[in-house]
Amino acid sequence: MLLGIEGLAVVSVVRQDDGARVVEMVTDDGAAAACPACGVYSVSVKERTVTRPRDVPYGPAPVRLRWHKTRWRCREPLCPRVTFTESLPSVPARSRLTARLRAECGEQVAEHSRCVLSGARRYGVSWPVAHAAFVAHVAARLAAPLPPVQVLGIDETRRGKPVWAKDQVTGRWRIVQDRWHTGIVDAAGTAGLLAHVDGRTAATVADWLGAQPDAWRAGIGYVCMDLSASYLKAVTTALPDAVVVADRFHLVRLGNDMLTELRQRVTREDRGRRGRKKDPEWASRRRLLTGHDRLRPEAFARMWNSLIDEGDIGIEILHAYAVN
Ligand SMILES: [Zn+2]
Repeated sequence: MLLGIEGLAVVSVVRQDDGARVVEMVTDDGAAAACPACGVYSVSVKERTVTRPRDVPYGPAPVRLRWHKTRWRCREPLCPRVTFTESLPSVPARSRLTARLRAECGEQVAEHSRCVLSGARRYGVSWPVAHAAFVAHVAARLAAPLPPVQVLGIDETRRGKPVWAKDQVTGRWRIVQDRWHTGIVDAAGTAGLLAHVDGRTAATVADWLGAQPDAWRAGIGYVCMDLSASYLKAVTTALPDAVVVADRFHLVRLGNDMLTELRQRVTREDRGRRGRKKDPEWASRRRLLTGHDRLRPEAFARMWNSLIDEGDIGIEILHAYAVN
């Protein structure tokens, strides 16, 4: 009862000089004496061994578990297994960690904003073990069906560096890890991130969408995304009935890029050089890109008048500004 690990009974606890408690344990009942191959209980002891499974931290000082196990002989004539060691679901065979340590480590990473490294340190395990525990924790949730989505959002994310590998047969290089990922989100609901797929090609996104159930795809009325041709192709292929909506952020950015290019071009053409501090269009370069509703009336009036006073250059820029 002290440890609450099913199948293990505490025999004694000894405190060591460093404050650590050493807990001697034995198998609680005979269940662990059943051969894992044939299920027959054994009474023939081959040897006794001690394992030291690690458990979740309990108090500030370490707790060292020592499980006195029995190695049994399987006497069943038809069984291929010669010997077996006791094992429990709470401390699986060949595992040096209790099942609940793995579970808690995975839960801490997945639910409590711990990074994998911090989880590994907290539970005294290696990074790969902590990461595997995290993956085990989230696997069930990832396998669950997607929630219904009415408005799908698609956008690219840059992540890390691309990794290339040479094909041994053809000798050609191909990308094995794209630096561009595609995030697929529930843009109007509360489900958040639905998927993060490697790459940003039409095929990548169309494959992911195509792999989802028909009923889920049929529920999508709108897809909100940037103006990339590859995403458009993916969506028109996999979601032919959905209405494509250009995301406001990307529209504004395109408009602003147009305005900046035009400003630089007219300066170059009319002045025969790049913009300088004393040029009114250069001085207004940031104000031109600020939303009208976020500009103070005085600032707007100053920009407008300075560009009008500048003549052709200013008026051409203001035409574009009004369109944007
Ligand atoms: Zn057996």
